[in-house]
Amino acid sequence: MTRTSRHSAPAGPQTPPKLDKGAMRIVSLGGLEEIGRNMTVFEFGGKLLIVDCGVLFPEEHHPGVDLILPDFSYLRDRLNDIVGIVLTHGHEDHIGGVPYLLKERSDIPLISAKLTLAFIKTKLQEHRITAKTVQVKEGDRKKFGPFDLEFLAVNHSIPDGMAVAIRTGAGLVLATGDFKMDQFPLDGRITDLAGFARLGEEGVDLFLPDSTNADVPGFQISEQDLAPAIDEVFRTAPRRIIVSSFASHIHRIQQVIDAAHLYGRKVAFVGRSMVRNMKTARELGYLNVPRGMLVDFKELDKMAPTKAVLICTGSQGEPMAALARMASQDHMIDLTEGDTVLLASSLIPGNETSIYRLINDLTKLGANVVHKGNAKVHVSGHASAGELVYCYNLVRPRNVMPVHGEHRHLKANAELAVRTGVDPKRALVVEDGTTIDLKDGVARVSGQVKADYVYVENMIAGAATEESLQDRIRLAEDGAVTVLAIVNPDSGKLEEDPEFFPVGFAPAAGELEKATGIVEKTLAGLKGDKTGPDAEKAIAEALVRWSDRQLRRKPVVTVVIVEA
Ligand SMILES: [Zn+2]
Repeated sequence: MTRTSRHSAPAGPQTPPKLDKGAMRIVSLGGLEEIGRNMTVFEFGGKLLIVDCGVLFPEEHHPGVDLILPDFSYLRDRLNDIVGIVLTHGHEDHIGGVPYLLKERSDIPLISAKLTLAFIKTKLQEHRITAKTVQVKEGDRKKFGPFDLEFLAVNHSIPDGMAVAIRTGAGLVLATGDFKMDQFPLDGRITDLAGFARLGEEGVDLFLPDSTNADVPGFQISEQDLAPAIDEVFRTAPRRIIVSSFASHIHRIQQVIDAAHLYGRKVAFVGRSMVRNMKTARELGYLNVPRGMLVDFKELDKMAPTKAVLICTGSQGEPMAALARMASQDHMIDLTEGDTVLLASSLIPGNETSIYRLINDLTKLGANVVHKGNAKVHVSGHASAGELVYCYNLVRPRNVMPVHGEHRHLKANAELAVRTGVDPKRALVVEDGTTIDLKDGVARVSGQVKADYVYVENMIAGAATEESLQDRIRLAEDGAVTVLAIVNPDSGKLEEDPEFFPVGFAPAAGELEKATGIVEKTLAGLKGDKTGPDAEKAIAEALVRWSDRQLRRKPVVTVVIVEA
């Protein structure tokens, strides 16, 4: 059975008790046991602070779904208690849910750094929302209700990442956001380890560290160490170079632009999000493009192939992105023999099939594909185990709640905490919706709140439900049958044999008609109305059971009764 949902009212600890005076309650509504929709809610003194509000991208068992949001029902009665949303950085899995939360209350202040706020503002424009924003930078300390916040620089695969320290009467909490410890980042902005150590000295009561790479031993290499492999591509490419990267990885794109400049090539951005983000990044001074280097891709197409670099999205094999469309020859840009495609990005778990399909399709067209598997062209944006251990030893937290990761990542991170001296009972591996109460320096699980998947389609939250997804999967796997039955309202019996119209499968002749007896029997057994919606529903259910037994197939059955 394909998994479509999780966290549907698990047994065990239930509704948390009233929060003790002087205690803080922490609950992640997303980001635990999954890579995405990161969102954590902090409660103190009757007020709420949210850190991040991201989306999760759907998998194959979520047909038709565009995005998956955290479940806001925990907040719905308390929207007016929210003092702000801190956004640690501008990745979709940290900011993508913001427009949907602001649809519930539009004036919640968004607190973040310059670039992150710029990215969220362009996103909000698509939803026609003007948000209230508070721009902060590393080193700032600011109070929002009872939450005294301090922001610290962290290094990640997007500029302007920040950790946030939260001081309240219940103690000091440090949430890292996504981070790593590249000691030689392109912009020279390293993770503020001195700040982490200072907070450690003050006494961190609860630490929420990024777990994404907690099960990867050792240290990540520096972004700068990718330069030789990127240079090699530029030095040897016989024709055009097509680079695919995340539209937010400004430093990687800067490296590509620097290489293009060195080798005298012109650059064009392709794809809506790439064009939009790079415009923002240039305007704010996060991306430097030498004058005259940037051209429109239609213009680039007319230039000598040895002079051209295209930078586009789609490195994860997303079917609608520019690169996948080029691979399936459904794009204005025609890939040809001798072109070089550089996939300068990670392989996000779950995307393997589509990425390898993309690489195969590109290779078939004669392109030379350079990727993480055959060259050192990517480094992750998340701290590995070695880096996390350094953090634990600097921060020396009393309690730890690993965040951002699948269960194995959270577990691995908790084990690192314990190895550095954290009491095993104080390293809390929990799931979305589990509430943790911090009081007198001790963090304990206190209950469980609703943290379901909320499905977005065409920018509408809740447009699909668990039930409708189950139907879609059944439609795809088992097809559908429409049954037309003509019933005499006086006798409540069939006037003639029902007609069966299967879609999506081909039963043998007369096979479905064998169910006529089931229709008759169900009608006969009905107490009330024999021609209304209840009758239609009862017959449909009986037919699904019959089909499951007889045909080993559970199609979606729709019965239409017409009165004779
Ligand atoms: Zn991130």
